[in-house]
Amino acid sequence: MPTSNPVRVKPWPSWPLHDTAEAEALRQVVESGEWNGVDASAVLAFERAYAGFLDAEHVITCTNGTVSLEIAMTAMGIGSGDEVIVPPYTFLATASAVLKVNALPVFADIDPGTYNLDPDAVVAAIGPRTSAVIAVHFAGQPADLDRLRDICARQGLALIEDSAHAHGAAWNGQLVGTFGQFGSWSFQGSKNLTGGEGGALSTDDALLAATARELRNCGRRPGFDWYDHFSLGGNWRLTAFQAAVLSAGLARLPEQLARREACAEVLDRELAALPGIAPLARDARTTVHAHHLYAFRYRPEESGGPPLEEFCTALQRLGVPATPGYPRPLPRQPLFAERNFDVKATAWRPEHQPTRYDELNLPVCERACAETVWLPHNLLLADPEEMWDVVNAVALAGNAEASA
Ligand SMILES: *Cc1c(COP(=O)(O)O)cnc(C)c1O
Repeated sequence: MPTSNPVRVKPWPSWPLHDTAEAEALRQVVESGEWNGVDASAVLAFERAYAGFLDAEHVITCTNGTVSLEIAMTAMGIGSGDEVIVPPYTFLATASAVLKVNALPVFADIDPGTYNLDPDAVVAAIGPRTSAVIAVHFAGQPADLDRLRDICARQGLALIEDSAHAHGAAWNGQLVGTFGQFGSWSFQGSKNLTGGEGGALSTDDALLAATARELRNCGRRPGFDWYDHFSLGGNWRLTAFQAAVLSAGLARLPEQLARREACAEVLDRELAALPGIAPLARDARTTVHAHHLYAFRYRPEESGGPPLEEFCTALQRLGVPATPGYPRPLPRQPLFAERNFDVKATAWRPEHQPTRYDELNLPVCERACAETVWLPHNLLLADPEEMWDVVNAVALAGNAEASA
């Protein structure tokens, strides 16, 4: 079959999904007149529901999953002069949030099997100024929370879980976002739980929760006047509209998690059998993988297929929306490499090794950027049998004739 004929013609499930629940919830907010405010009933209802889902003591909503990271660090007093260890295979926000609080991101390489932070690289990156580690649960698979929590506890470092890919993911049966001092969440439109935009923090620490609430609401405290401002936060409040949509989506999340797991099981098994294709490893302690992405390695040197970009274009033509993922390690962005940030506020010094961002040696991340394919999570909301369309398309796009 020539690769110009799509394997898949039927559309994949769309994202975001909605039904009458969203429309009804929005209508209620519209008619209530309670459109905003940290105490709006729709906002409080979502915070309670999400805390219940996670089995966390506190959930504090905010405008997005970038600001949530900034609030978490500010609440713990992390700022100028501090270093925060982050992975290089992640979205910008994981590291830019560190700069926003005037601390310096230090990049530690990832594990070649899971693309999550390599705990040994984290240990090697710890210095006298290190104050925290931000672990990303890449693609929805928990980072090694046993070792990361142990390392942080021994070294007196804070652990923040950037859980933007991992709504509902679990490690040894416990939901992510409840292992570190803070879990950080994004509800941006592409994420597995979305209010269009939005973010949140989860924590079991009452004092950190109160500080985060204060920062999120212009530094105000409960029991004081609206014009009493105690700390340097901002207006980072979620709207009641977003909260209402999020509550409707949350009710559907458990069923979606199960579907994505069932589809990923087929892909893991069948793709692994193809030449030059290697799905990411699944840690035995990952009890729920949230599959924000389905990522696999593509090695044309093993299959004789076309280069990565062409392979993805061929997959798209065949009806499978594949992309090459993060194209380069995050520290190679001009923001970091050219130090286009407040060098003075971050206490950066020329002799400060970790900030020579363009010279960092991150071989595992480099390789991941060069050979990884991503499939979006909504594809995994199809029926497990439909994953054969993906498998057949990957087999066609990756074979030697396709590159000829
Ligand atoms: C999406 C994302 C964020 C930031 O979320 P926004 O809500 O878009 O600000 C942070 N970290 C990771 C890993 C993400 O994918």
